[in-house]
Amino acid sequence: MNRRQKIILAAAFSALLMLTGCTQNTTTGNVSDTVEETLNVVATTTMIADLSSVIGGEHVSVNGLMGPGIDPHLYQASAGDVSLMQKADIVVYNGLHLEGKMGEIFESLSTQGDTVICLEDGLDEAKLLEWEEGSVYDPHIWFDVTLWKDAATAVAKGFSDADPEHAADYNTNLENYLKELDDLDAYVRERTEELPESQRVLVTAHDAFSYFGKAYGFEVRGLQGISTDAEAGTADVSNLADFIVSRQIRAIFVESSVPPKTIEALQAAVKAKGFEVAIGGELYSDSLGGEDSGAETYILTVKANIDTIVDALK
Ligand SMILES: [Zn+2]
Repeated sequence: MNRRQKIILAAAFSALLMLTGCTQNTTTGNVSDTVEETLNVVATTTMIADLSSVIGGEHVSVNGLMGPGIDPHLYQASAGDVSLMQKADIVVYNGLHLEGKMGEIFESLSTQGDTVICLEDGLDEAKLLEWEEGSVYDPHIWFDVTLWKDAATAVAKGFSDADPEHAADYNTNLENYLKELDDLDAYVRERTEELPESQRVLVTAHDAFSYFGKAYGFEVRGLQGISTDAEAGTADVSNLADFIVSRQIRAIFVESSVPPKTIEALQAAVKAKGFEVAIGGELYSDSLGGEDSGAETYILTVKANIDTIVDALK
């Protein structure tokens, strides 16, 4: 082997080394990227699953227990749900008795030392609406966008505590989302302005919209109580029908997570009293819209609701 051949060989050898080195590095890099742990988050409702995804971004994988159109007041966790929650790094739920049949599960998860984020804990009690003579608060907090900002802050804090390494990212995601929620709040107020004050009356199937009413200046009447657990009686239907006739209300609304029969009964009762009230469309109450509904996220759902309400009452 002459000098020239040696040089070529040496060059080829070092190239091979570099190549191997590179390959090894790349492989290690890839492995650590794919192995990088994402937080396994289980969320109860569609709103909370959406919120968890927005705040967690690339660092979380979110499993929502309840699909679109599912009523959280009546939802019973399956054995599969319980096992999902037990295996999760973090469980996020609304609280305020929204998940009325799941209280014991959350309690046992907390006592077992699992990380549980209850949105209720992040809210200022003074901003909550009372229900049933002060014993229970109204759980439908997502209808006031400013309360949902507090919920978002609670989720970011919970994720940061559980995963301090990515706290800066959770906070950036939070800051960006809070700005989007400010824009959303402004949108709801602008659309509301299109209605004369006398027309700002919202009649729905169950009392989900009190926070919405308080935040945006609507008078709200629900046919059923705050939970869908209580059926509306004929006296309730008749009283609400009288109210609609006396106020000459143009439209009432069905809800995505409540069967429409109660609102249809109300419409019939109004008709029997000689007045026509339209069904103004379907509002998303206790869940977001399904796939391809145009209301798959919290922000889209809030927009869809105010558009439906204002367009029907205008
Ligand atoms: Zn509800």
